[in-house]
This record gives sequence, C-alpha cells and structure tokens, in this order.
Amino acid sequence: MTSNGTSSNNKDGVLMQVEHLKKYFPIEKGFFKRTVGHVRAVDDVSFQVYRGETLGLVGETGCGKTTLGLTVLRSYQPTDGSVEFNFRDQGMVDITELNRKELKPYRREAQMIFQDPYTSLNARMTVRDIISEPLIINKLCAADEIDDRVAHMMQVVGLDNRYMRRYPHAFSGGQRQRISIARALIVNPSFLVADEPTSALDVSIQAQILNLMVDLQEEFGLTYLFISHNLSVVKHMCHRIGIMYLGRLVELGTRDAVFENPQHPYTQALMAAIPKPDPDQPSGLESAPGEIGNPANPPSGCAFHPRCSHCMDVCREVRPEFIKVGDDHYVACHLYDEVEAQT
Ligand code: SF4
Repeated sequence: MTSNGTSSNNKDGVLMQVEHLKKYFPIEKGFFKRTVGHVRAVDDVSFQVYRGETLGLVGETGCGKTTLGLTVLRSYQPTDGSVEFNFRDQGMVDITELNRKELKPYRREAQMIFQDPYTSLNARMTVRDIISEPLIINKLCAADEIDDRVAHMMQVVGLDNRYMRRYPHAFSGGQRQRISIARALIVNPSFLVADEPTSALDVSIQAQILNLMVDLQEEFGLTYLFISHNLSVVKHMCHRIGIMYLGRLVELGTRDAVFENPQHPYTQALMAAIPKPDPDQPSGLESAPGEIGNPANPPSGCAFHPRCSHCMDVCREVRPEFIKVGDDHYVACHLYDEVEAQT
C-alpha cells in the first residue's frame, strides 16, 4: 500500500501519483501586505490516477477541487508535496520540481477543459486560431499544415470545419465547448482535467458533451480528472470517485463502492441529498447540518466534526488517515479505526 492508502498493484497503470499535496494561499493585510494566515485550499491530499480511467472529484463549492485540478496541472505551484506523472518516454517524473522550460512536455501531455465556454474562448480569435494556438506555441506543426489539422480536429469533436474562420460568438454553448475540447486535444494529450465541463450548458446539451467525452476517451485512450458537484453526472462518467471536504480527500473508491456503499458520514450526506423523484421523500441535507468550514481556519482533527452526528472525542483532536474498507475503497474517518486494527 502506498502512503495514500491506495492500491499499488496497478503501478504500471498509474498515470499520475499525487503525494501529500498542499496548496495554501497567503492572506495578506495592511499597507506592507503582511502575511497573517493561509487559506488551505488543498491540504495534504494523496491519490493515484490510473491510465485510461475517469477519476471524479466531488465536493461542495469551496472544498478545493478546482484548486487541486489546477495544481496537478502546475497552473499553481504547490506549497508542498509531489505530483509524479508517467511520461510516455521518460516514466515517472515529479512535475513539481520542473522549471518553466522543463515543463513544456507536460504542457502537451496535460490539458484542461474549462467550465464556461462563453468566457474561456478568446472572442477576438477565429475558431481556427483558437484551436491551433497550442500547436503554434509548442511548434508542433508547419504553417501549411495547420488548416488540415484544425479541420480534422473539428470533425473529431463533431463540428462543421467549414466554419473554422468564424468567431466564437457565432456558435452555441455546446459548440463552444466542442471548440474547447478540440483545442485541448490538438496537441495529443494523454491527461485532461475537466472542471465542471457541462455546468454552464443547457441540460439538453450536457448529455451530448458528456457522451462526446466518453467517445473521445475510448478513441484516444484519454485519462480524465473530472471535477464536478453533480453526483448524477459523476455517476455517469467516472470509474472511481474521490470525495473532498475542506481541502482534504475523505473517501476514495470505485463508482459502485462510493454510490452503493458510502462509508464516510459526509459522503452519506451527499448521497442522501441527491434529489429524489418522490417529493414526500425527505432530503438528506439535514444529515449534514451547517455549512462547510473556513479553509483559513479549518476545524481541528477531522475537519467535518462540527457537522458530524457521529463525532467522538478523538475526532476533535486527531486527523483521520485513510483506512481500507473494501477493494479499492478507502475512507478517512475514526469510525473505521477498528477495521484497520483488525487488518
Ligand atoms: Fe464524523 Fe469523526 Fe468520522 Fe469525522 S472522523 S466523519 S467527525 S465520525
């Protein structure tokens, strides 16, 4: 078992190994911008991403899932911890140690699909220029090949390539998200962070984009880190799911394990809060009363303890570590300390 409590028997299939990752943002005050504290957006998180899978990251707004996605992409420099990426030609490399120049190969391997296709595309660039920009920046294509590469990629994502010289405003939300996906895929990446990729779209369009992502994953062998607060979407898309609370992972397991046998009280509350077709059925929100804590001053011990109906004395003092509770299923909760003691 690795330090993150996840299985190591799939080491060859590991695309990314995240160990004790932290991302703190300083809180500055006064004229001299003195640092008076830190927002612990990601606070000691460890997990693996297997090649070809979709790993979902779920949690309430403010739990740190977007910061985690941006940190593993090295859009943010981590405060501490490591992110090892399994390059096709070099094997595992800790990308937190790389300088700007050394990061270039990683910038091709790891791309992002943003949440809002209305703001993420430059309105002054044509679709051709938007999609081809990563090719040009990385010097991956001769100038006379660009049109063909863009036309092909537009076709792959289901766009009519006759419109490559139009501007983003001429396209619908769903088409704009397809443009974003084409831009991400044009450099032939192996890993994509998708941050709520359909939350800004009409419900009728969301399924089309999600199904496109599934098809592209099969066609190109892609690996996704899929960030969402929508459990129905996560259930549709993900092979494994990590539940985040206040910058920490509290449960990690296969889709079936997490949905059918949630172990952490917070996961159980999230599952119970999924809207039910019967309006007389109670919502599960009351099982986790209160609001998510302050990441600048998280509760001691288990960060969920002020909201947990099972809270014990130990929960207020000792931060729970990941405990294996089933096949590829881990939970950070003192309720399961005995399970670990028996193994
Ligand atoms: Fe509740 Fe304690 Fe488990 Fe935290 S560690 S979720 S407070 S039982």
